[in-house]
Amino acid sequence: MTAVPSPVSQSLIPDTPTFVTHLECGMTGERLPADTLHNLSPKGYPILVRYDLAGVKAALSKEKIAARAPNWWRYRELLPVRKTENVVSLGEVMTPILTLPRLASQLGLRGDGEIIVKDEGRLPTGSFKARGLALAVCMAKELGVKKMAMPTNGNAGAALAAYASRAGIETVVFCPDDTPQVNMNEIALQGARLYKVNGLINDCGKLVGAGKEAAGWFDTSTLKEPYRIEGKKTMGLELAEQLGWELPDAIFYPTGGGTGLIGMWKAFEELEAIGFIGSKRPRMIAVQAAGCAPIVRAYQGNERHAKLWENAHTVAAGIRVPAAIGDFLILDAVRNSNGFAVAVEDAAITAALDEVAKQEGFLMCPEGAATYAAYKQALAEGKVKKSDRVVLWNCAAGLKYPMPDGGQPLDRHGSIDYARL
Ligand SMILES: *Cc1c(COP(=O)(O)O)cnc(C)c1O
Repeated sequence: MTAVPSPVSQSLIPDTPTFVTHLECGMTGERLPADTLHNLSPKGYPILVRYDLAGVKAALSKEKIAARAPNWWRYRELLPVRKTENVVSLGEVMTPILTLPRLASQLGLRGDGEIIVKDEGRLPTGSFKARGLALAVCMAKELGVKKMAMPTNGNAGAALAAYASRAGIETVVFCPDDTPQVNMNEIALQGARLYKVNGLINDCGKLVGAGKEAAGWFDTSTLKEPYRIEGKKTMGLELAEQLGWELPDAIFYPTGGGTGLIGMWKAFEELEAIGFIGSKRPRMIAVQAAGCAPIVRAYQGNERHAKLWENAHTVAAGIRVPAAIGDFLILDAVRNSNGFAVAVEDAAITAALDEVAKQEGFLMCPEGAATYAAYKQALAEGKVKKSDRVVLWNCAAGLKYPMPDGGQPLDRHGSIDYARL
């Protein structure tokens, strides 16, 4: 076998020491060894990666980070990949934050009140799934995995297929057969074996679980390996840095499996431990669709775990997740931050998408639009203040989703009343 050359210019990836000390069960805190393959913890819960944060604090400064290339490897000391040769890259960027000034003014925001959108649609494969899956694939490469399998609602499968193909790892992906067409096509084009299943994502997950022994797949389901959280954690690191190491008042996050919410919460904890931020935290607000809101129901019922949501349906495919294995981690972050969980109707999602596109020229994905709908609802109900600086998460490029037909026919041979066009 010949060594595959690293696909990226090394200057984009700082070659720093790494600081992972061990892994930990997210529920019991049981200590587990790093540098070996894991799925769930022995007790069946998601695993968290732990670092020598005192070591990171001594090694890293805000200035050092600022001098590095604008991609998530600038936070290398807080990421798990040991060897630079295992970094798999497709040209990641720091995603822009943009404000929605016209809507802010219409909604009567005042003082420091501001609506900020983190636009994750600019990442490779057009969604923030790139963050988590890139790290999962880098670590799979580092730990010698040859085949990865996952259930997906679309974007995760696309990111896995892309990064795994780039790394020379085989992938098998299962998605609900009504997944957005563009997602299914990109997954297959990017080299995965794709199966369209007559069921929902949790049904697809059961197939991965049932087949992994026989087929020799590494189970890459949401939170069933430790490193997707680390990738999603970079959202919190990046946001903090972009806002001058000053966190916002609230973050509205469209919650499916909750990886991003859990990851950002972890990011803030680590940033405080290395002295980059203080103890102020944003209120973490889990946004779900009314047709699939298991976390909202558990939040309202004061439960630590969420029950399976039956007959899940919503236009926001990315958050159609009837059961989340990290439910307790999501709910802990929401509660410990004095946040809340809220559901929005599909009609409100569609109206929000339309409003932001027409008023601000910004095409959100339906899941991102759900956060704007939830924000408006929360503002109207007084659950957030007009002086709050809030961040909405636009997780994917709006162009990846079906859109209503636009435009109208024009007969160039007929008589045209130009004044009325
Ligand atoms: C996966 C996904 C989500 C949900 O993200 P989690 O971190 O898994 O909760 C939201 N929106 C889009 C577009 C997604 O692809």
